[in-house]
Amino acid sequence: VTAILTLNAGSSSLKLGLYDDRCRPLASGLVDRIGPQATLRLRDSAGFDLALPQGGVLTHAEALQTALRGLDAAFPELRIVAVGHRVVHGGMEFAGPTAIDTTVLSRIADLVPFAPLHQPHNIAGIDAAMRAFPDALQVACFDTAFHRGHTFAQTAYALPGAYFDKGVRRYGFHGLSYQSIAETLSATAPHLSRVVVAHLGNGASLCALYDGRSVSSTMGFTALDGLPMGTRPGQIDPGVLLYMLQQEGLTAAEVSDLLYRRSGLLGLSGLSPDMRVLEAAGSDAAERTISYFTTRIRREIAALAADLGGIDGIVFTAGIGENSARIRAEVCAGLTWLGAALDPARNDLAKRVISAEGSAIELRVIPTDEEGVIAKSTRAALGMHPQGPSRG
Ligand code: AMP
Repeated sequence: VTAILTLNAGSSSLKLGLYDDRCRPLASGLVDRIGPQATLRLRDSAGFDLALPQGGVLTHAEALQTALRGLDAAFPELRIVAVGHRVVHGGMEFAGPTAIDTTVLSRIADLVPFAPLHQPHNIAGIDAAMRAFPDALQVACFDTAFHRGHTFAQTAYALPGAYFDKGVRRYGFHGLSYQSIAETLSATAPHLSRVVVAHLGNGASLCALYDGRSVSSTMGFTALDGLPMGTRPGQIDPGVLLYMLQQEGLTAAEVSDLLYRRSGLLGLSGLSPDMRVLEAAGSDAAERTISYFTTRIRREIAALAADLGGIDGIVFTAGIGENSARIRAEVCAGLTWLGAALDPARNDLAKRVISAEGSAIELRVIPTDEEGVIAKSTRAALGMHPQGPSRG
C-alpha cells in the first residue's frame, strides 16, 4: 500500500494518521504519556484495534518505532512515500505547507524561542521520521500559516516598532483546525460569509472567517492569549505578570509553569482541567469555572463579530465544542441579542445545524479534522516534489 503518514507530536504524546494515496484514512494511532508509563493505541477503519500494554517508550523516536511496528503488522505491504508534520510555529516566513530540507529544518529550529514548549517536540517528530523514512518527502504544516493574511491592526502589538520587526506579533494558532472547518463550510454551507469558529478543546481559541479566510483570532504571540483553556488563563493583564515577578519574586520558569500548566479551568476550579469532570462535579467552584469559560467565549465571539462587520454563523468544534451540549447552549443563550436562536433538541443531538428555524445566525457543530488537512497538504506537496525536496 502506498501511504501518507501524518504526525502530531506533543510534549508527551504522538498522534499518527495513515492515509492512502487519495487521502482516505486507513488507520490512526496515539502513543500517550511518552515515558515509563506509555500507552499505545492503533485503530483502522476495518475495526482493527490494537492496544499495547504499558511499556517504556522513552522518546518520540521510540514512540514512532513502536507505532510503526504495529502498523507494519496490520499493513504488511506498507510503503510510506510522504510524512506530514504538524508544526506549531511557522513565524513570519512560512505561509503554507513546506517540504522540509535541512535549510527549512534549521529555520523551524530558529523559531523554538517563540514556542519553547511545543516546537522542540515537533522537531523531535521530524527527526524521528527522517530517520525512519529517509526516502520519504517530509512536509511541515504550520498552525500559524492559516492566519498569515491578517492586517497590520490584527498583527501588531502597540509596542515600539522594533519588536514588530523582530517578530513579536500576533500569529494565531489552531490554523489546521480552522482550515479543516473552512473547507467543510465551503463544501456544505457556502452561503455563510462571516463566521466565527469556536475551537473549544483542551486548547481553545476563536477564529473569524470571512469567505473562508482568517481575519482575526483570539490567540496572539503564543497560545496563551484569548480564551481560558484547560490549564492556561487566556487573556490576562500583563501587569499581573509584573506583579508576580517583581513583588512575589517568582522566576520566569515559575511564571511559565503557572501560565501553561496550573491556570485556566484547572486553576479556577482547583479540581480539573477536563470539562467532562467539571460538568459532572456540580460544585460551586466547578459551576463558577464553567460560567467564567462561557462568559469569556461570548465576549470574544462579539469581538470577532465586530472584526467581521456582522456575523452569519457560529461553528463549534473540538472536544468541548463537538461534545458539550451544555456549553454550546450557555454560550448561545447569551447571544440572542446578536440574533442567535438555538434549537435545544437539535443541540442535544449535536446535529450539524443546531439553530432554530428563523435564527438570524446559523449555529453549527462541525468535527475538526486536523490530520486530514495535514494529509491533503502533504499529498499536494508530493505532487510538486515527486522525488523529494532538493537536499540543502
Ligand atoms: P480536545 O483537546 O479537542 O481533545 O478536547 C478535550 C476537552 O474536551 C476536554 O476538556 C474534555 O473534557 C472535553 N470533552 C470531551 N468530551 C466531552 C463531553 N462529552 N462533554 C464535555 N466535555 C467533553
